[in-house]
Amino acid sequence: MIPRPSPLPGGDLPDGPMATKDLPVPASALAIVAHPDDAEFHCGATLAKWAAQGCVLNHLVLTDGSKGTWDPDADIDALAEQRTHEQMEAARRLGSQGKVVMLGHVDGELLATLHLRDQVAYWIRSIAPEVILSHDPWRRYRLHPDHRNAGFLALDGLVAARDPHFFRHHDVPVHRTDTVLLFEADAPDHVEDVSGHVDTKVTALLAHRSQYVTTHGIPAEDDGSAEEDFRQRVVTQAAEIGARTGVASGEVFKAITEL
Ligand SMILES: [Zn+2]
Repeated sequence: MIPRPSPLPGGDLPDGPMATKDLPVPASALAIVAHPDDAEFHCGATLAKWAAQGCVLNHLVLTDGSKGTWDPDADIDALAEQRTHEQMEAARRLGSQGKVVMLGHVDGELLATLHLRDQVAYWIRSIAPEVILSHDPWRRYRLHPDHRNAGFLALDGLVAARDPHFFRHHDVPVHRTDTVLLFEADAPDHVEDVSGHVDTKVTALLAHRSQYVTTHGIPAEDDGSAEEDFRQRVVTQAAEIGARTGVASGEVFKAITEL
């Protein structure tokens, strides 16, 4: 049996209008994600919008993406290397002028340990973003442990990053982030109007070529029609979220501003 790709990530439709809309464009943003492609799927259009207005985008990817294939005979070291290149290209396509940091932990085995919290806090301090975007670790019935643990690491890391007595061996100043946006949120309350930026999101997602079969639903022998279908699904998803939230195209988040 040929496995079928799951529904498009990031497609949950919110119940109704959001409490807030559109943050002021931050000077810098950091997406902290489990896998290469998570940032593009869940907040790619928001990142593209901000980059177009001068925000410096940064990616912190916690795992190596080495489980991202259905081929039992795949060379997973080669896959991890390919996914690093794909993530860098995707960030470039979003308009990133910042860093793409790949921590390279084993895909599927991410744990919210103190050691990893130290690493995440270090990069938050080093990059000093105004806004952090990450997975909502409290989303109910979430199955993938990496997404849950990446969310906890992002939040635990930002708490540690802001206070001087955490991880005192870091050679960078402490940093307090202004706002966190959690995607795949259990209770979204914030929408970013991404009208005009969904095509850039699609273009960035298409940089993740190794994921075409498993995630994008584009077969290896595609004549272009499956890629076009993928593009349409991403555009439709943003429009459906927008229709529920009062914008033409949207991405929704749980916003946390008391930091
Ligand atoms: Zn993921």
